[in-house]
Amino acid sequence: MTQKKWIGVDLDGTLAESVVGNRAQYSIGEAIEPMLNRVKKWIDDGQFEVKIFTARAADNKQINGIQRWLDDNGIGGCKITNQKDADMVAIFDNISIRVEENTGKICDECIGFLNAGNVKFNSLANQANFVAPRFAGALYSRETLTDC
Ligand SMILES: [Mg+2]
Repeated sequence: MTQKKWIGVDLDGTLAESVVGNRAQYSIGEAIEPMLNRVKKWIDDGQFEVKIFTARAADNKQINGIQRWLDDNGIGGCKITNQKDADMVAIFDNISIRVEENTGKICDECIGFLNAGNVKFNSLANQANFVAPRFAGALYSRETLTDC
């Protein structure tokens, strides 16, 4: 049996509202309805499998909590992973930056998003250490950007 192609959907900040601070490690935020509805439609359509693609999957102590959240939100059949494979076709993630295939060019809109200071972090320490201009705008000239 061939494995179905799948879409990876990040959890925190993409499918569930980000939780920041001391509660962040083991609590998962409220569902973000437009993304949850999109996932349910993909599942109903059946063309692609949907997997929850989250760093939390590296911690076995988090799997039950993630599964409970998925069950509570009507998508309990989704697998949970933190690993890509050749059948993954797309990633939906609140911090991903689109890079043009085989060129290294970066999506102009994504850089604009970073420069606008819209970056969200699950950890206050990570947020404090982040310097947006050094990370984003100062490193990229116009010709390295695409219009995606
Ligand atoms: Mg996220």
